[in-house]
Amino acid sequence: MTARIIDGKVVAEQMRAELKNRITDLKSKGVVPGLAVVLVGDDPASRSYVTAKGKACEEIGLYSDNRCLPEKTSQKDLIDLVEELNRDPRIHGILVQLPLPRHIEEAPVVLAIDPDKDVDGFHPVNVGKMVIGQKCFLPCTPHGIVQLLLRSGVNLEGAEVVVVGRSTIVGKPIANMLIQKSPMGNATVTVCHTRTRHLADHVRRADIVIAAAGRPNTITADMVKEGAVVIDVGVNRVEDATRTRGYRLVGDVDFETVKEKASLITPVPGGVGPMTITMLMYNTVQSAMRAAGMET
Ligand code: NAP
Repeated sequence: MTARIIDGKVVAEQMRAELKNRITDLKSKGVVPGLAVVLVGDDPASRSYVTAKGKACEEIGLYSDNRCLPEKTSQKDLIDLVEELNRDPRIHGILVQLPLPRHIEEAPVVLAIDPDKDVDGFHPVNVGKMVIGQKCFLPCTPHGIVQLLLRSGVNLEGAEVVVVGRSTIVGKPIANMLIQKSPMGNATVTVCHTRTRHLADHVRRADIVIAAAGRPNTITADMVKEGAVVIDVGVNRVEDATRTRGYRLVGDVDFETVKEKASLITPVPGGVGPMTITMLMYNTVQSAMRAAGMET
């Protein structure tokens, strides 16, 4: 079997077109959804994410407010800015780009964000609501994965899912979302990590494999059941002298061999990645609709 490729760019485009319609509707009622992105320091990867987010917002008609603060910004000044954005009625979503410089503690900054504007879904209030199945902002990458699965026609109900990775931003939330008693869940989920014994045995049972380990070749063809759906979240740089920049990006899955066994597979790049920013904009629009009393 050769897998059908799940094209994340196409699914993201579909969702962005749907969002554009909602934004037009909101604007006709005098509401322009606004997203503030706060970046501290000069990390080039973070800077390029922030630029990409700003550009994506402009393209679909969201108001975007990028705040770039110097590396030496104090924790207090950062929290003061977050509180100012909490009060700003033009802003419906606030994202503080992580990681922060070493002298700033992450937890108090995340706690300072108004949970009603926490479009990253990292505030403990939103995490708690997600776990108990209440309406909340779902974290962007895991929510993007669920949308990719559903929009590719994958049946989650009763499916055996193996998640490789237990981070707070990917592994734990995707596992939580998929076990919810809801059309976006109802799966049977196993979560694996570096202390898991016999990783291959778990993965071989899976109807759906979600690889979020951050290590190339964590999932190889011998570990995958014939016809499984494989979602590759990993983004890893590997040296490549044939590329002018000296490296290329690969996922956690050995794509070339696994695609011969899977029924559906996401590529890296172009799979999960394009969904993350889309889901951030989705949450911002959802927030603006709530603020305007147009809750869906
Ligand atoms: P992370 O915080 O480093 O967590 C990695 C997880 O994988 C940990 O739980 C670790 O186990 C587990 N792990 C590592 N090697 C393993 C192995 N050989 N076998 C089993 N488990 C293993 O990473 P993350 O933030 O979740 O990100 C994971 C990957 O996704 C990264 O490549 C990241 O760049 C990518 N990512 C992509 C997007 C996107 O939008 N496309 C978004 C977020 C992340 P322990 O807990 O035991 O250490």
